[in-house]
Order: sequence, then C-alpha cells, then structure tokens
Amino acid sequence: MPIPGGDPAGVPPGTKNGPSRHHRQGLAFSPPPARVGEGGRGTEPPLCVYLGEALGRYAFGEHHPFGPHRLPAYEAALAEAGLVGAVRRCAPVEAERAEIERFHTATYVARVRALSEAGHGLLDAGDTPAFPGVYEAAATVVGSVLDAVAAIFAGRCRRAFVPIAGLHHARRDGAAGFCVFNDAGVAIEVLRAVHGVRRIAYVDIDAHHGDGVFYGFESDPEVYIADLHEDGRYLFPGTGAAAETGRGEAAGSKFNIPMPPGADDRAFARAWQEVEGFVERVRPEFILFQCGADGLAGDPLTDLRYSVESHTRAARGLKRLAGRCCEGRLLALGGGGYDLENLGRAWAAVTAVLAGDD
Ligand SMILES: [Zn+2]
Repeated sequence: MPIPGGDPAGVPPGTKNGPSRHHRQGLAFSPPPARVGEGGRGTEPPLCVYLGEALGRYAFGEHHPFGPHRLPAYEAALAEAGLVGAVRRCAPVEAERAEIERFHTATYVARVRALSEAGHGLLDAGDTPAFPGVYEAAATVVGSVLDAVAAIFAGRCRRAFVPIAGLHHARRDGAAGFCVFNDAGVAIEVLRAVHGVRRIAYVDIDAHHGDGVFYGFESDPEVYIADLHEDGRYLFPGTGAAAETGRGEAAGSKFNIPMPPGADDRAFARAWQEVEGFVERVRPEFILFQCGADGLAGDPLTDLRYSVESHTRAARGLKRLAGRCCEGRLLALGGGGYDLENLGRAWAAVTAVLAGDD
C-alpha cells in the first residue's frame, strides 16, 4: 500500500539530501571488441541506442535535478568509452496520442497538453513543472521506447537502450517525481496489444521504487516486476515494501527488495541473485530493464552506495536471461541519476554489456 508523503521520520542524519559527492571510480567494464556482429541482421550492431536533441528536450531546466545535461553527459561517456561505433544510433520518435492513452487516461493526457501549451504550472504537487513543449518532449520519450520495441520485433536490433526514459513514477492519471508519461507502462500495454506478448518482466534497479509501473500493473498476474530500491521509509516515493507482492490473482508476481541506506555493491550482488532467480522462474517473453543511475555513491538525491559494478552485473545477468528465455529481447530504459559523472559511467557500462556479443 502506498505510504502517503513517503518522508517518515528516521532518516539517517546527513543523508538523503546531502551535497553531491564526485567520487572517481575506475571503469568496471572493458569496451567490446571492434568487431560486433550477431545482431538482428548481418553485421549490424546488436544494440540500438536512441539519441538526439528531441529526446534531450525532456528536461526541467538548469536548476532542476532532471536537467538538460543528462543526455549530453551520456553521449560524452559513450565517446570516452569508445562505444560510439559499437551501437546503432536511432533517432527519437514522437508517440501518437492514442499510443500514450493505452496506459494513461485521456483526461490526464489532455491536461498535460493544456499545461504544455500554457508553458507553466505544475504537473504534480511540486517536483514536476510544466514547460512549453513538455507534452511533445514526454511524447517523444514514449515514442522512442515504442520504436525500440518495434525495432526489436522487426529484427533491426536484438536489444535497445533509451537513455531518457524509464519515467517510472508517472501514474495512469497523473505525473509524479519528474515523470510525465510512463513509457514503461505504455510499452507493456503495447507489447500486449500490438506484439502479442503475454509474460513480461520489468526489472528496476533505480534507487527509487517504480511505483507508477508497480501500481499500474499490481493486479496483473503476467506482468512480473522485480524492483530493487532504497527502502521507502527513507526515500521518495515511500512505497515498495517487501510485503507488496501483487494483488488478488497477481499475488506473487511482484518482487520488491528494499535496500537500507548505504547499501553497496556487495549488498546489491546478494539481492541481485534473488532477482535473477525470480526472472528465470517466470520465463518472460520480453524483459524491460529500468537502469536508473541514482543508486551510485554520490547521487545528490539518494543514500545508496553502489558503483558501476552493480549496473554491469545487472546488465550481464539480464542479457543472459533474455538469451535463455526470450530470444534476447531486452529493452533498457535510463531512469534516474542526478550526478552527471555517475550517470555517464553507469549507462556506458550498461551499453558496453548490451552492445557486446552474446
Ligand atoms: Zn530514481
């Protein structure tokens, strides 16, 4: 059950909103070999990555944690890691209104459009401000994710990564926590309706609980959710207790793993083993991976202390499971991450794994 406010007492002093710390960490991955093949078609790289200015427009201004420098930081990290030639670059696509409404209510979508045209106001209680064009920017996140799903099914790539995506707090009828449209939620509905997929695994390692996806599909027995996040007693949105395993006939189809503040790579590795076991047991036909980078030590909004090793571990595990369960079909969504250096390193690490041969 959601915990209103999600900001209980008991937050360890000096955590949660402490200043950003910029630790230098060694890259925990090696760039893949120059030759990459084994993709959907001939010598095409197996990984599509969505990049472009239209996707980067999903940002709330210079002084907001979800600011305009996140996508450029990832692109710089890709270049630094020598990965630019190892991926297939794909252009952003804006979703149709009808596609967005597969998950969101028509009333809410109309409200986003109206506030977008007005160019100001708040889409939620205060974290998610409207700006001119916010509708088009949010629709472009959704459209790029749907294009990635289509690319995987068409054999244009085996896996895909949309860095500005994984906006997992948005509810069917409202924005929350920097998230306007829930691209993962829309993707799940489209996987069902358009691609005939029944059993879907959604794995979320963002430091925050993916409440928008969780409650959007809480009663759906074939949407299997594994969500590893900082304990909701210490961090927004306050949900995702271990006892929340799905409702009604969906009981047991959801797996929440709350992590204590300060949890490191060793704690992640222990929890991750259980996540892999869960995904293996449910035999998904498609895997969505929300790889938020805000669990890395130094993030200004959270208290977890992972390094990029945890992202590499998760990406490797899910790539292997996708190969075993669902012909490799794996779509990664960037999620949060508010220290630009961490974000670049974590997402480059995920890219390196997913761009590599199986
Ligand atoms: Zn987050």
